[in-house]
Amino acid sequence: MSHRLDPNLLLELKKYGDVNVEACFNCGNCTAVCPLSTEDESFPRRMIRCVQVGMRDELLGSKELWTCYYCGECSETCPRQAEPGEFMAAARRYAIANYDRLGLAKMLYTSPALSLIFLALVAVFLAAFMYTQHGPMNTTSLALFQFIPDELIHNLGVAAMVFIGLVGLMGTVNMVLQIARADGLTKAAIAGNSGIRLNWFEALWDTLGVEVLGQTRYRRECETAEERPPWYLQKWFIHASTMWGFMGLLLATALDWFLALLGIKPTGTWVPIWYPVRLLGTIAGLFLVYGTSVAIIKRLLKTDKTSSHSITSDWVFLGLLWLSGVSGFVLEVAIYLPRASSWGYWVLLFHVSVAMELILLAPFTKFAHAIYRTVALYVHSLKPMATVELARPAGAD
Ligand code: SF4
Ligand code: SF4
Repeated sequence: MSHRLDPNLLLELKKYGDVNVEACFNCGNCTAVCPLSTEDESFPRRMIRCVQVGMRDELLGSKELWTCYYCGECSETCPRQAEPGEFMAAARRYAIANYDRLGLAKMLYTSPALSLIFLALVAVFLAAFMYTQHGPMNTTSLALFQFIPDELIHNLGVAAMVFIGLVGLMGTVNMVLQIARADGLTKAAIAGNSGIRLNWFEALWDTLGVEVLGQTRYRRECETAEERPPWYLQKWFIHASTMWGFMGLLLATALDWFLALLGIKPTGTWVPIWYPVRLLGTIAGLFLVYGTSVAIIKRLLKTDKTSSHSITSDWVFLGLLWLSGVSGFVLEVAIYLPRASSWGYWVLLFHVSVAMELILLAPFTKFAHAIYRTVALYVHSLKPMATVELARPAGAD
């Protein structure tokens, strides 16, 4: 395969983070200490080399970008302070911006002032739009969905999902084609038309079950035994807590709507806290607020390498997640107070605007990691069945 070289690649990458890899003299120490690097998937030194010589396509089509969970061990031990861990994080932002053809991700990552103005305008627009449709503020009981009709919230949510689905799909196709090119997988093989049988289901389990939901390698490999803090402060748990929390809240919202559709529970009616869907939402919210609070504190205190380089988009992402979790709890308090409090209506408007903004911007923010990491790991786990069988050690069956 021929490689197109881009002499500006390193300069371009510097816009996406605190990249200092020109200091790197390729000793390979970072690759040696990286707990996730393997003989077949060797990083971060190889990635650094790609950028130093301008191999843009190679960088954008590499699984290694997404295999790194930014544990920071490579940066701790680099003799040149080239910050290879931060380089990998910046390279992921660069990749997301390149997969997104709308240019929004690039603006959010590289123009802090513009991105803050944009985010404020989107939030104000969403809140103003919902407010124009508002109903009465009942003062005898907190009738939240008389104030902002649940149908309006549902329709806005569906529109946001369709938008992110389409944008996410476009970005994902771009990424898959890049990876497939770099891996030598043909379009026919991916589409299943080549006569080559791929390990579709095994790859799906390895990706979703083992890597994404189980966080297995992150959990087992990314903290050395000597410095391992209590489990609730370990990086994998903070990461998983945030991810599980947000996914649990999405699931609770979807279930609430689905049960209403089936006529089991009309949306928006008062339910006790132990009602299963409400309980799921409450527990998920606790995970989300815990994970984001610890992540914010670590970044403020710069407790380790991974939390000492924060760009505006990191703060915005964590801030929006935290605000949506905390405002959800304040709303819950308002619901269960014995007397209706009119501030509950404003909290609802704020909460829905923030949550909606988070969802709308998912393909352009750090959320995009969830999409791209999963798909990249899946594509890379795909192997022709013959290779899978050959790779299996003799007598394994
Ligand atoms: S980033 Fe640091 S540890 Fe890695 S190869 Fe370069 S100089 Fe060596
Ligand atoms: S940050 Fe951690 S996982 Fe990523 S390359 Fe460095 S050592 Fe490996």
